Amino acid sequence: MKKAAVIGYGGMGQWHVAYMEGLSYAGMKMSKSDVVSCAGIYDIDPKKQELARLYGIHVYLSLEELLSDGEVELVVIAVPNDLHEELTIKCLEAGKNVICEKPVALSSESLERMIDAANRTGKHFSVHQNRRWDSYFVTMKRLAEEGELGDVISVETRVHGSNGIPGDWRKTKAQGGGMLYDWGVHMIDQALWMNGYDVDRVFCTLDYLTGCEVDDGCFIDIFLKSGIRCRVEVCTYNFISLPLMYVRFTEGTAKMDDWGSDIEVVHCTEWKDHDIKPVKTASGLSKTMAPRSERTIEKTVIPRDTVHVHDYYRNFCAAIDGKEEQIVTHDQMRTVMKVIEAAFKSAATGEVVKF
Ligand code: NAD
Repeated sequence: MKKAAVIGYGGMGQWHVAYMEGLSYAGMKMSKSDVVSCAGIYDIDPKKQELARLYGIHVYLSLEELLSDGEVELVVIAVPNDLHEELTIKCLEAGKNVICEKPVALSSESLERMIDAANRTGKHFSVHQNRRWDSYFVTMKRLAEEGELGDVISVETRVHGSNGIPGDWRKTKAQGGGMLYDWGVHMIDQALWMNGYDVDRVFCTLDYLTGCEVDDGCFIDIFLKSGIRCRVEVCTYNFISLPLMYVRFTEGTAKMDDWGSDIEVVHCTEWKDHDIKPVKTASGLSKTMAPRSERTIEKTVIPRDTVHVHDYYRNFCAAIDGKEEQIVTHDQMRTVMKVIEAAFKSAATGEVVKF
């Protein structure tokens, strides 16, 4: 069991502690980690310190105090995005392994300085890409790997909300706010983890619908060298939502409507369909857009796999012990960061950015 300390005891810091200690989070009882326990937290806000004490969590009164605790092997950084680099490097230089919250950094240069510090100190450093363990995503990725529907043609992955950007710092540029850094980074990571890191080009448009200085939505097309197109959408001004995930395969289509739904699959078992009955469209009949005859397709519903985000920590701890390779690698972090930069550049120029 490794001792971990958490810097930043806001929304996500509380999640990490609840997960380590098996506490309740947002009304949900978490199962206690089998690889890490919480040595304590450090937060500059006295109210957060008080809250931690209420849960019986030790509070470090300074960063120095936390870093000089020899029992702490691992530090989790869960502070606003602009502070990730400085704190990660300080922790690595103090001899701690570091899990940094996403987005790991605000630029490739910043990320390289963090990776340099990890290499220099010989400590492990990773970013908390926990959404790789979202059950719907894991199931869709498995479906793609099993190949029963053929090869992936395109992937659409999206989150459509209607409440604008939450909180305070997420609305400011200086603190690394905006939805591309916030949700975009998760979904870019998922898209590449599922389909490969061979990015060829990126096109992006950003929404500024709620009057903030940062984007409140993004539409990113990532074209891979393999020919697969990944469409990532993050919206906070959509009052009707489209499916969370929609994947076209060479022999079928799979769709996942919402967080709680199972995966709907249509397998095209026979391409030639001689029994198409034209459908009445708004004006006139169409065979092109008519439904296929049932004889040529097979419909199934696939329940979501059982997964656990504990596996992220299990892997990171095993990597510290030299027993496994890190699942979230530095190279993957670099590519995701470059896609984010390409997306910002594309949005600013209106052009496709070659990788
Ligand atoms: P938050 O505003 O709720 O919490 C941030 C906390 O950091 C606050 O309590 C604040 O007092 C503290 N803080 C600020 N500066 C500090 C400093 N110098 N030293 C110590 N503490 C300091 O924000 P949040 O929603 O918890 O987000 C924190 C990080 O977690 C962000 O990087 C965010 O992108 C990430 N996050 C990740 C996920 C995920 O699913 N992986 C979800 C939400 C947030």
